[in-house]
Amino acid sequence: MTIAEKIDFINKRLPSTTRLVAISKFHPASSIMEAYQAGQRMFGESREQELSEKQSSLPKDIEWHFIGHLQTNKVKYIAPYVALVHSVDSIKLLQELDKQAEKCGRVIDCLLELHVAQEETKYGFDFDDVRALYRESVLSKFKHVKIRGLMGMASNTDNQSQIREEFSSISSFFSEVKDSFDPQVDTLSMGMTHDWELAVEEGSTLVRIGSFIFGERVY
Ligand SMILES: *Cc1c(COP(=O)(O)O)cnc(C)c1O
Repeated sequence: MTIAEKIDFINKRLPSTTRLVAISKFHPASSIMEAYQAGQRMFGESREQELSEKQSSLPKDIEWHFIGHLQTNKVKYIAPYVALVHSVDSIKLLQELDKQAEKCGRVIDCLLELHVAQEETKYGFDFDDVRALYRESVLSKFKHVKIRGLMGMASNTDNQSQIREEFSSISSFFSEVKDSFDPQVDTLSMGMTHDWELAVEEGSTLVRIGSFIFGERVY
């Protein structure tokens, strides 16, 4: 299948409430243009410099999403244009996003990254961290970032029922946030190449798909 055919394959299987973010990290601008010509407008990158280079050379109506760990000293470079940061994993990062967004005279949409998967990682909040942020009104202090919802990753496993359970628990927690803390949250980012169909069944509104569309990444 061509890149265009793969995008079409995914879109045909997504409900109207779920949209595709094409994850183009480590892939050349020419591949992004192939997807763009097929109508794709949301792309996700995980490294600031690579993103900034692509952003400056590619069409301006692309919506660029940031999906990787973002160092605070890199925020200023993407603040003028980034459409959604999926990977807010600390209050320090949120503070810097708020500061740089204010300098640009804009509000940056963000998702809180959850740590649910069994893999060890330094990044992400657990459910209780997020509850505390809302209860203590930490998030509403920032006037130039808007928390649109949550991002989660399932464990890297072949065990489908485990993946489903993890997505299901993230999805229930998303409903809890919406019902108990902020009725305006509307974005749940879950699902990658190997698990997006389960994520969609469990209520994902954004799937982040890279290697299925663009092929294996060469690091
Ligand atoms: C790389 C990456 C993806 C895309 O992964 P694929 O398995 O290639 O679809 C999605 N989300 C995050 C956070 C990533 O880092």
